[in-house]
Amino acid sequence: MIDLVQQFWLRCEEAEPVFSADEIRWTPTEQFDLLCGHGLLKEAARATWAICDACGDGHTEEVMLISRGAPGSLMPFIPCPEVGGVPIEPERLRRWAPDLDLTARKLRETLGLVGGLSPLWPGRVWGLGRRHVAGRFRDFFLVCGGARPDAHVLLARCHQIADAPSPVILVPTRSPQQKQWPAFRLADIAAITEEGMTLDMDYIADAVPRDVYAGTAKTIATFPVGEDPTWEDLRLTVRENGIFAELRNEQKELSLDDLQFTGGDDRLWQLLRAFARFGGETPARSTSASSRDTGTFRKQVSDLRQRLNTVFPIAGEPIRALHGKGAYRCVFKIRLDRRDGFPIRPERWEDCQFVELRDGRIQISVKSTEVFAARSKDEETQRLTAIEAGEREVTRSEQYDLRTLGLAADSGVPTAEGSVLLEFLRNGGKLYRRGDDKDVLRFRKRLQTWMGMDSDPLQFTPNRRLWTARFECGSLRRQTEPK
Ligand SMILES: [Zn+2]
Repeated sequence: MIDLVQQFWLRCEEAEPVFSADEIRWTPTEQFDLLCGHGLLKEAARATWAICDACGDGHTEEVMLISRGAPGSLMPFIPCPEVGGVPIEPERLRRWAPDLDLTARKLRETLGLVGGLSPLWPGRVWGLGRRHVAGRFRDFFLVCGGARPDAHVLLARCHQIADAPSPVILVPTRSPQQKQWPAFRLADIAAITEEGMTLDMDYIADAVPRDVYAGTAKTIATFPVGEDPTWEDLRLTVRENGIFAELRNEQKELSLDDLQFTGGDDRLWQLLRAFARFGGETPARSTSASSRDTGTFRKQVSDLRQRLNTVFPIAGEPIRALHGKGAYRCVFKIRLDRRDGFPIRPERWEDCQFVELRDGRIQISVKSTEVFAARSKDEETQRLTAIEAGEREVTRSEQYDLRTLGLAADSGVPTAEGSVLLEFLRNGGKLYRRGDDKDVLRFRKRLQTWMGMDSDPLQFTPNRRLWTARFECGSLRRQTEPK
């Protein structure tokens, strides 16, 4: 007898995964009943070809339907050169096929994955969801036919695998050509029993590359999203040290820790804040600086997507790429909490400072006078009584990646406008260019939009062809790089 469960996994790798009735005859009935009972094996369209069992030659012929006896009753026949017309038992034409979509769903269930189940390449590759394994969150994928000749397009078609920080690949029996990720053979680690499908999770946990910080990893918070949530329904208000999330009737405060951001310096946190600052969409790049994209910014956006997908188990993409604009837009609503930090609308450009940091990010600081409520102590009663308005000067700063500002290609190479900014910063606020220089004019417009100011951030001295910034400029990078 042939092990039908092993055959089931082998068949899942094939372009046309079906079992003929002749094959099923040689497998244990209990295994057949088990797979059919779980729905993993489903009856498929009847065969249109059959093997001749009349002459011993084993030739395959197309099935013909011939009326015989009672009108309207059609019997399947195949032609045999030796015997002539050979009647075929209709039962022999039945076929069964693995239900790959259901297999993907069962894997997701048994692994207890969160996040959306998404067919990335119909019939071949599924994003199953994610869970915490061996110290970190990992995305699980089911890849069928990963060793077939057309599988070299796998990564191009399913960029989600390359974008995932720690993908785990499940395959029926054959590992994909792309060997950089751990792949697990379901034929080895899955068991199908009366109860359903189970996986040897310990084996997976032992075999995946371990996170060095495994011991300290905290559990990430999740937001109760309810029934059929959509990203459009989610509203995020970004505060100094966390976010306030609302979805229909649910509300929750989430701290940086809850969101697994390492602190104010965390790149993903800064990216999320940038989205908030720009109303949910990063500024477009007006010129493309480089056609060779290394995709590192795309990777950052993808990491943020994954983080959001984990905190908010909602199907679909929370952030979409705006193709051709080099920008990204949040599907959910996001804004900064106006009571809490940026953006303070500066009154004058002279109150703003732009500094290029050593790691290439741009720090934007704004000085302003803040009115605050102050209590004064009553001298006699020692009680806090009067509430008076006080004034104090505050400086608020934020750091932005040039790419987030739409001033560099994904590879980090500055665009023409990005170069204008860097020249100002590295040259003490001076730039020698013509008065009608398109890049400078576009940069000026962009600055006004960012800071919400109508007044001109730049001055032009025609006889010297000199542009001067009215805001303070600086660069920490210039001083450390040898010229
Ligand atoms: Zn024959």
